[in-house]
Amino acid sequence: MNSSDKPSNWYRGQGHWADVPAENWLNWKWQLKNRITKVEQLEQYLELTPDEKAACYFSNQKLALAITPYFFNLIDVNDPNCPIRRQIIPHGGEMKTAPEELLDPVGEDGDMPVKGLVHRYPDRVLFLVTDRCASYCRYCTRSRLVSNAQDYNFHPEFESGLKYIEEHPEVRDVLLSGGDPLLLSNKKLDYLLGRLKAIPHVEFVRIGSRIPIFLPQRIDEDLCEIFKKHGPIWMSIHVNHPRECTQELYQATERLSFSGVPLGNQSVLLKGVNDDPDVMKSLVHRLLMMRVRPYYLYQCDLITGSRHLRADVRKGIEIIQHLRGHTTGYAVPQFVIDAPGGGGKVPINPDYVEEITDDEVIMRNFEGRQYRYPLVAGRKAVNIDAAPTPEPLLV
Ligand code: SF4
Repeated sequence: MNSSDKPSNWYRGQGHWADVPAENWLNWKWQLKNRITKVEQLEQYLELTPDEKAACYFSNQKLALAITPYFFNLIDVNDPNCPIRRQIIPHGGEMKTAPEELLDPVGEDGDMPVKGLVHRYPDRVLFLVTDRCASYCRYCTRSRLVSNAQDYNFHPEFESGLKYIEEHPEVRDVLLSGGDPLLLSNKKLDYLLGRLKAIPHVEFVRIGSRIPIFLPQRIDEDLCEIFKKHGPIWMSIHVNHPRECTQELYQATERLSFSGVPLGNQSVLLKGVNDDPDVMKSLVHRLLMMRVRPYYLYQCDLITGSRHLRADVRKGIEIIQHLRGHTTGYAVPQFVIDAPGGGGKVPINPDYVEEITDDEVIMRNFEGRQYRYPLVAGRKAVNIDAAPTPEPLLV
C-alpha cells in the first residue's frame, strides 16, 4: 500500500455471498443470523488444517466460533497464514495453556464491586453490558465470559451497575464494553445511555466496540440518532490489520463521525497478523483516512491458549520507533501492556532519553541523532552529532 491507497480502492462487496439480495446483505440482523458457527459451514469455503479443525470442535469449551459473512469475506481462503484467518478461526494453540497464562489476565473479577462493573481507576468505571459479540476474536481478554462457552454465566445487571454509578460521585467517565455493547437493541441502548446521561457527575460515556469491523451494517441512521441524542459519546473501535479497512467500514466510521462520535482505535499486537512495522504503518494511515485516531497498541494479554498469537514486546517497541517521526504524529498509537493481575495500562516506549543530568537532558531523535536540552538557564541547546565538542556553560 502506498500514497495512492485511497478508500475508493479498498475492498467492498458481497464476495462469497454475491447471490444474496442486497437488502439482506445490508441488514445487520441477516448478517448475525447467517454467521458461520460450525466446521461444516467453514469447510464450504476453505480447507481447514487438521489443527484448526480440532480447535473448532474445542471452541465450544473455550470461546465460541462465530464469523459474520461480511468479515469472513476478508479472509484469503488460499492462505493458511492469512492475518484475518489467524484472528478469527480457531487454532490448535488455543487448546494448550502455557504456565504464564491466566483465565482473567488483567484481574478484572477482583475489582468488581457489583457483578459486571469494574472500578479500578479512581474516576472511571468499566461497565460490562453483554457477553455477546458479532464474531469472536481468538485472543479475547474476556474469553472467560464472552460467548459463555466456559459456563461463566454472565448476566448483565444494568440496574445494580447504574445504581453503583449514581451513588459514586467520583465516577465521571463510564466505559461500556462486554462483549460488544452495540449488539444491544436500540431500545436498550437508548435506555442505558439515557440513564447515564441523567447522572449529574457522569461527564461522558465511552463505548468499546468491534461491531464497525465485524458488522458495519449495524451503524445505521437509527443508531446514530441515539448517539446524537445522548452525546458526548466517544468510541474505541478495534482494527488490527489494514485489510479490515473496507469501503463499508469507511462509511460506518463516517456516519459515526458525522454524528459527533470521536473515534479512536485499539489494536492488539498479534504474531503473524500485524507484528510488522510496514503493516502497522499501512493500518495507521488507513485509520487516519477514516477519521480514526490510532490510540493504543496493546501487547496481547496473557489469556489462556494465546501463546501462538503473542508477539515479542520488543517488536511492539520497534513498530513505534518505525512510526515516531517517520509519519504523522496523530498516526502513532501508545504501546501499552495491561499489567497482569490488575496493575492497569503501562506505557512501553522506545527510549529516546539517554541521560538526564543536573544540567541537561541528552536524547536521540527519530533518526538516531543526539541532542542536548539544557536544564540550566543560560546553557545553549546542542546537537551533539553536529557539534561533538559540548558548548561551555555561558555565564
Ligand atoms: S469483539 Fe472484543 S469482546 Fe468480542 S471477542 Fe473480540 S476482543 Fe473479545
